[in-house]
Amino acid sequence: MSDNVILGSGIAGLSAAYHLKKQGIASVIYEKDNDWGGLCGNFTIDGFRFDRFVHFSFAPDEYMQKIFAGSEGMIEHVPYPVNYYHGYWLKHPAQSNLSPLPTEEKVKIISDFVRRPQKEVSAIKDYAEWLRVQYGNYFAEHFPFAYTRKYWGVQPQEMETRWVGIRMSSPSLEEVLTGAFERQDKCFYYAKVMKYPRRGGFRSILNNVREGLDIRLGKKAVAINPAQKQVTFADGSRTGYERLISSLPLPEIIAMLPDVPDVVVKAAQNLRYTCGYQVSLGFRRPDVAQHLWFYIYDEDVPPARVYSPNLKSPDNVPEGCSSLQAEIFYANEAKVPPAELVLEQTTEKLKQICGFDDADIVVKDIRFDPYANVTFTHGIYDNREIILNYLKEIGIESIGRFGKWDYLWTFQAFKTGMEV
Ligand SMILES: Cc1cc2nc3c(=O)[nH]c(=O)nc-3n(C[C@H](O)[C@H](O)[C@H](O)COP(=O)(O)OP(=O)(O)OC[C@H]3O[C@@H](n4cnc5c(N)ncnc54)[C@H](O)[C@@H]3O)c2cc1C
Repeated sequence: MSDNVILGSGIAGLSAAYHLKKQGIASVIYEKDNDWGGLCGNFTIDGFRFDRFVHFSFAPDEYMQKIFAGSEGMIEHVPYPVNYYHGYWLKHPAQSNLSPLPTEEKVKIISDFVRRPQKEVSAIKDYAEWLRVQYGNYFAEHFPFAYTRKYWGVQPQEMETRWVGIRMSSPSLEEVLTGAFERQDKCFYYAKVMKYPRRGGFRSILNNVREGLDIRLGKKAVAINPAQKQVTFADGSRTGYERLISSLPLPEIIAMLPDVPDVVVKAAQNLRYTCGYQVSLGFRRPDVAQHLWFYIYDEDVPPARVYSPNLKSPDNVPEGCSSLQAEIFYANEAKVPPAELVLEQTTEKLKQICGFDDADIVVKDIRFDPYANVTFTHGIYDNREIILNYLKEIGIESIGRFGKWDYLWTFQAFKTGMEV
């Protein structure tokens, strides 16, 4: 029995335990995996380290910057991502950097941009319409519509728009025209500096946080009885609690509870999210990785995004080597293709795009994560509120990206742990 039980050792759960400890309050974290860190974690194969999906830190406030930089020091990257589109490389955001495209396609994009539908943001009914209003029909249909299907796994009409915020750029006509004639050097990205630990992979931003915390690994929570204040684990063991803080995904925690009202069960069933594969490749050559990260719009290429761990930090590869990791997302776990097939298809496509061959590859790996992104389909806010109110009623404090069911970056997930 521990007074304070925390479920999940991702950044949110660690933050909750760390801030309790700072107040002299002990807690125990229970984690289903055999390692700590959740999505901030990493794995190493033959000297090649890969994070679980692409990760950089852009925490805006000083308190967190200090904590995250404490252990290893940070490399600062100015983000210049690029886009791969039908064999052309366009700087990001694509609409402000059209110059590599053929004239005919630039004309279609720009004339549709000039004639784009005009509508008050408050009157826009879904993400598809938002994209048409921002970018014009041709660009919307060929770029972000395709990317939405690849990244979010749904059609843009199925999504609402409150999540967009600063994440999507809205260029002026002058910007679009300038970028159509010449290469622009301006950084348009929403974060002007992206930080990454010098050593140890992304997870080492949490080295100071996890120091001295009681983390029990390999403990998958399978049932919670709020009346008896008890959690049961997959190995049959149990723990009581006075206070329960959970960073588990909302659909998972609802499935663990007894006698949940129908309306809450239905709300949980209506939440949409993506799961995804990470294809990780290590090369004996130093020059395969050319871009910190890039987006792929072509729908016949499985990954939505590819990044280069060795460009994040040379500490991620053995000397003289380079690496790539590709992210492939799906909306429905039941329809995910077999890992072997995705690994082969992705490797073949990346050979053509990045210019390597089989003889260059020394590490080839694929792994799956059941939760990647919360999907902002219509009804998300009402469903989320129903579930969070219910959890509050039965005394469970829900934190983190999947516990708050929001598009949270690491520093925001950390903040939710700090706030409880
Ligand atoms: C593709 C991708 C790219 C991203 N890139 C960035 C980035 O560049 N910068 C950034 O700041 N953020 C980024 N993020 C967001 C960031 O990963 C999250 O905000 C953050 O890691 C979430 O932390 P968390 O603790 O809330 O959740 P998690 O890390 O998911 O932690 C939850 C923990 O609970 C455990 N768990 C689950 N079920 C059980 C159970 N039944 N019993 C016990 N334990 C359980 C899990 O194993 C996990 O360890 C990215 C996310 C994704 C998916």
